Amino acid sequence: MAEPNIPPAPAIEGARHLHSGKVRDLYEIETGEHAGQLLMVASDRISSFDWVLDSTIPDKGEILTRMSLWWFDQLTDLVPHHVLSTDVPEAVRGRAVICERLEMFPVECVARGYLTGSGLADYRATGEVCGIALPPGLEEASRLPEPIFTPATKAELGDHDENVSYDAVVRTVGEETAASLRELTLAVYERAEGIARERGIILADTKFEFGLRADDVMVLGDEVLTPDSSRFWPAADWQPGRTQASYDKQNVRNWLTSPESGWDPRSDVPPPALPPAVVEHTRARYVEAYELLTGERF
Ligand code: ATP
Ligand code: MG
Repeated sequence: MAEPNIPPAPAIEGARHLHSGKVRDLYEIETGEHAGQLLMVASDRISSFDWVLDSTIPDKGEILTRMSLWWFDQLTDLVPHHVLSTDVPEAVRGRAVICERLEMFPVECVARGYLTGSGLADYRATGEVCGIALPPGLEEASRLPEPIFTPATKAELGDHDENVSYDAVVRTVGEETAASLRELTLAVYERAEGIARERGIILADTKFEFGLRADDVMVLGDEVLTPDSSRFWPAADWQPGRTQASYDKQNVRNWLTSPESGWDPRSDVPPPALPPAVVEHTRARYVEAYELLTGERF
């Protein structure tokens, strides 16, 4: 697997760069009230086929930041979250949050209500996902009898996360923590799935990351319930047995795999820049997802 081509993170005064993922840049705040805490900045970068594209999607960082904040608010009675403030340096206003530094559990806490992606691949190979046996006859985008917890281990940059069994999580974090992670993941998924459904969106699956606060309370970290961490499908078009048009990146994938792009996803060559029309369409889809979910205008 090729290394994703992540551009250097911009310098931010009063913050020290720690890490860049495909889409976000993480800093430590050096001075003031929140010294020692984290500044999480969502860029307008977009990834597809594990590549960070050369094109950016205008406002994507802000849309996803606002969506994540909105969701955190919907969940406060279920689990505390890590956001301390949205009063961030001017250069990143609107697309960054200051959050409490947690000791993260090394588990990607995935909940699935529908079968697709790596879950479907595992099911086809073994009849199970993460050690959970599923009934026969399920197909692409089938609704599962009930939502399942399908943890994964975080891969190094440029690699795919690996699905693991619940027992593997128990071995990593202990029985009590594993049980709490599973319980919280499913509770938050269930809440979010219901909210999304009322608004015409299927939350097929999603990934959470939890960490421990200094006082040993389990806290929801990272970003939540964005199109980058979840699969959203328009409920009206849902039809098992075929690939669902994803809310956000379908158009990007379609174009990249079309003859027009001239690009081969299986090659080691970076994908070409997106045409302006694809960028604009993609931006409109992010805005649409935000507005449908939150009921607010972007
Ligand atoms: P990818 O692009 O595949 O997501 P990545 O996970 O390395 O790569 P990011 O998601 O941008 O990149 O990185 C954010 C990092 O910050 C992750 O390692 C995540 O676990 C961590 N993180 C999120 N919230 C907190 C927190 N409150 N305290 C400490 N670390 C956190
Ligand atoms: Mg990440």
